[in-house]
Amino acid sequence: MNNKITITGGKLNVPNNPIIPFIEGDGVGPEIWRSAKAIFDSAIAKAYQGDRKVEWQEVLAGEKSFNHSGSWLPDDTMNAFREYLIGIKGPLTTPVGGGIRSLNVALRQELDLYVCLRPVRWFNGVESPIKHPEKVNMTIFRENTEDIYAGIEWLQGTPEAEKFYQFLSQQMGVKKVRFPQTSSFGVKPVSVDGSERLIRAAINYALDNKLPSVTLVHKGNIMKFTEGGFKQWGYELAEREFASSVFTMQQFDKLKTQQGFAAANAALTAAKSAGKLIIKDVICDAFLQNTLLKPEEYSVIATLNLNGDYVSDQLAAMVGGIGIAPGANINYLTGHAIFEATHGTAPDIAGQDMANPSSLLLSGAMLFDYLGWYEVGQLINSAMEQLFQQGQATVDLARFMSNGNILTTSQFTQAVINHL
Ligand code: NAD
Repeated sequence: MNNKITITGGKLNVPNNPIIPFIEGDGVGPEIWRSAKAIFDSAIAKAYQGDRKVEWQEVLAGEKSFNHSGSWLPDDTMNAFREYLIGIKGPLTTPVGGGIRSLNVALRQELDLYVCLRPVRWFNGVESPIKHPEKVNMTIFRENTEDIYAGIEWLQGTPEAEKFYQFLSQQMGVKKVRFPQTSSFGVKPVSVDGSERLIRAAINYALDNKLPSVTLVHKGNIMKFTEGGFKQWGYELAEREFASSVFTMQQFDKLKTQQGFAAANAALTAAKSAGKLIIKDVICDAFLQNTLLKPEEYSVIATLNLNGDYVSDQLAAMVGGIGIAPGANINYLTGHAIFEATHGTAPDIAGQDMANPSSLLLSGAMLFDYLGWYEVGQLINSAMEQLFQQGQATVDLARFMSNGNILTTSQFTQAVINHL
């Protein structure tokens, strides 16, 4: 029997007993994986009464792998993710010194996982620093392969930095570097291809899930060709590839110039009532303010790598979810995806049965959504919501709840299973 997930014509073929590789992770990894796996298996059993079941296959990475084979990220692990398309992982210790800068970055690059997907929503019962956390419900598509994050940089004082400056000043006519002798330099590549595939994924996601808008978040007012390009290429892509299902604020502005505000507004209202997806853009600093003042105006966010980093953490903090936020890194073209806990290995609490498994649990819920097994994610989300409302949580969350009751990881796991 074939139990490999495959992809044809951009569509996943998911057998009823798929093999899914997992990395349990370092530090609190083993305990939160044990918890998550028990909950995943129970939720699947409950949803499908034995008709579906995952064959979890352990693959090694991080400290466990290093101690076992001397390799932080063995070829076997990469090959398993390549072959089975979809995997899940706990947190990994970042090796200090040695060849690999970050295991997460290595996995993303190797599989070209160009979307970092971060859904952000509030769970009733979780303490939040804002008055109306229930208004925050966004899904962030952060570009994962380009931008200043590409790691093209040279340290001040090195021959490379000097050579780069010579190139800038002598061949490119750049005169604006204030302190050339003591400047480090970084390069920010942002391409049409890279921007388009990210924004296309965000638009497809919004259309599939019948969401109201996609917002392109950028700093194009200052970085005109990179961040400004991202916005411009995004609008062009939306109007070219999704003409019949979207209305863009670029079209709005054009109408306003040609026919006046009333006509533009009428077109926008008509598009909304026809159920069209609205594509808009906002400068990143204004976006960060607006998310605090009127978060209900935003739904799907498409943004570049560095903005996405800041935006994800601010939004997660707003719903009190920085410790429980899930994430996934996805290539929608090849189907490859790795779902992950977004926190670190929490060495200070490892092995003490106190870690919160929620980030891994919610990334598992995203995984099941990605497979089209929506019932599993719904069961997990609703069980967690019920527990949080009752103040039942691990110490990191319970200590801030007015009705908080601190559970160990094992107790929380059993409680989630009881509420599925
Ligand atoms: P951390 O996220 O491990 O810990 C920060 C704080 O949050 C600690 O007080 C910790 O106890 C708490 N915390 C984290 N996860 C928790 C959970 N599930 N339940 C309850 N409390 C939790 O960040 P750090 O200390 O900066 O990093 C430790 C190690 O993790 C480093 O080696 C770092 O490189 C690595 N790291 C890995 C990832 C990843 O694999 N995705 C992400 C971040 C950091």
